Amino acid sequence: MRLSELKERIKIDKRDVIVAGGGLAGSLAAVAAAREGMNVLLIEKYGFLGGMAASALITPFMTYFESGESGKLANKGLFEVLRNKLAGVGAICKPECVCGQNINGDLLKLALDRLLKEYGVTVLLHSLIGDVDFSAGRVKSVTVSTVSGNINVKADYFIDATGNADLTAFAGLEYNIGRESDGLCQPMTTCFRLCNVDWEKYNKNAAKTLELYKKFQAEKKIKNPREDILTFGFVGYPSDGVMHFNTTRIVGKDPTNVIDRTAGETEAREQIYEMYRFLKENVEGMENAVLINAGAEMGIRESRRIIGHYELSRDDLVSVRKFGDSIARGTYEIDIHNPAGTGTHHERIPDNDYYTIPYRSLVPQNADNLIVAGRPICSTHEAHAAIRIMPITSCIGEAAGIAAALAVKGKKAAIDVPVGELRTLLKSHGALI
Ligand SMILES: Cc1cc2nc3c(=O)[nH]c(=O)nc-3n(C[C@H](O)[C@H](O)[C@H](O)COP(=O)(O)OP(=O)(O)OC[C@H]3O[C@@H](n4cnc5c(N)ncnc54)[C@H](O)[C@@H]3O)c2cc1C
Repeated sequence: MRLSELKERIKIDKRDVIVAGGGLAGSLAAVAAAREGMNVLLIEKYGFLGGMAASALITPFMTYFESGESGKLANKGLFEVLRNKLAGVGAICKPECVCGQNINGDLLKLALDRLLKEYGVTVLLHSLIGDVDFSAGRVKSVTVSTVSGNINVKADYFIDATGNADLTAFAGLEYNIGRESDGLCQPMTTCFRLCNVDWEKYNKNAAKTLELYKKFQAEKKIKNPREDILTFGFVGYPSDGVMHFNTTRIVGKDPTNVIDRTAGETEAREQIYEMYRFLKENVEGMENAVLINAGAEMGIRESRRIIGHYELSRDDLVSVRKFGDSIARGTYEIDIHNPAGTGTHHERIPDNDYYTIPYRSLVPQNADNLIVAGRPICSTHEAHAAIRIMPITSCIGEAAGIAAALAVKGKKAAIDVPVGELRTLLKSHGALI
C-alpha cells in the first residue's frame, strides 16, 4: 500500500464553513453555523474537542453571572445548551455547589462529541492546520497536517477558533501580541492534580503552608514565581480527595514561538515536581498525595490578538459599555497574572451590570471571508484578560457561527453581515446580548 492510496479514500468536499479549532468557541461556532443550515467541517489538532478545558485541564467555568444582588445570568444560548449536556453526563457541579462551576474535562469531550453529532457537523480530529492559502482578501483553503499526511480543504467561509489566531496569522494578516509596554503575554500554566489529599487538614493549615512556601521561594528552594498556591476542587470536591492545581507560572516566553513553547513545557514539568515534593514533604494532609495527571499541554492565557474593526478596551469593560452591535455579554473581571513574575492584578466590573462585546471585534481587517471566535478577538491586553474565560468565548463562538452562516447565505463580506439579523437570531436562540 502507498500513502496515495490511503489519501484516495479520504475525500473532503468543499464546505460552506470551516471552523479551525475545536475548543468551546470553535465547537459552538460549528454548531451555530450548522443550526443555520450550513455544511460545516471542524478541524481540531487533538483527538478530542474541548480546547483548554480538555487538553490543559482548565476548570472551573469562571463567572457567567452578574455580581452583586442581581445575580442574573450573563451567558446563555448555546453555552446553556452545553451546560445542560454536561449536567446530563454528570460533568458539572450544580450552581449551589461550594466549588462553583467545576467541569470534568473528559466528560466534556463526550458531551461535545454528542452535541456536534446532533447538529451534523463533520469533525476532523488529529488534524493540525499549518498553512493557509490567502489572496485578494480571501482564504481559499487550509492545509491540514493529519495522521494521513497533508490534506488541503476548501470552504466559502472560515472561522478561526484556534485560541491563538493561527489561521489569521498563517494567512499573513497582522496581529498584536502581549502588553503594549514590552509585548509580554500573561504567564502560561500547566495544571495538575493530586489524589489522596486530606482536604480538611490541608485547609486547616493553609496559612502556615503559604508562609512556608514564601520562605522556600526566598531561599530559592522554590523557583516558581507565583505568589501563592492556587487550588480548586474537582467534580465531587472535596469528598474524592482530588485537588486541582492551577499554580505553575511560566513567564517571559512567547506562546507563538515554538522554541519558547518547548522550553516552557519542560520548565512547567520541573515546577510541578517541585510543588509536589514541597507539599508531600512539608504539608499536613499531603503525606499520601499522588500526582495523578497533568495537562497534555501548558495552558495559554494569552497570545495573538487580531487587528479587527473595533479594539475592545479596558474602559469599555469597566464602564459596562453597551454596543449597538453587541453579540455577547461578560461579567468577568480584568484578571492579569503578572507577565513578568509575581503578582496578579484584578479590576472588578460594577455589580448588577455587564459589559458587551461588539461584532466588529470578531472581524479581522483586510479579510472578507474570515471571522475570529474565542479569545483572540480584537482587544487590548487588559480587555483580553477579562473576555478570555470559557463562558464568554463560548458565546462569541455562537455569534461567529451565525454570522458566518448569514455571510454565506447573503454572499457578504464578514464586516457587512447584517448585524440586526445576527442579533435577532442570537436572541431567538436564547443568547443574552
Ligand atoms: C491556566 C489557565 C487557567 C484558566 N482558568 C480559567 C478558568 O478557571 N475559567 C475559565 O472560564 N477560563 C479559564 N481560562 C481561560 C480559558 O481556558 C481559555 O481562554 C478558553 O479556553 C479559550 O477558549 P477558545 O475556544 O478561544 O480557545 P481554546 O480553548 O484554546 O481552543 C482552541 C482549540 O483549537 C485547537 N487548535 C489550536 N491551534 C490549532 C491548529 N493550528 N489547527 C487545528 N486546531 C488547533 C486547540 O487544540 C483547541 O482545541 C484559563 C486559561 C488558562 C491557560
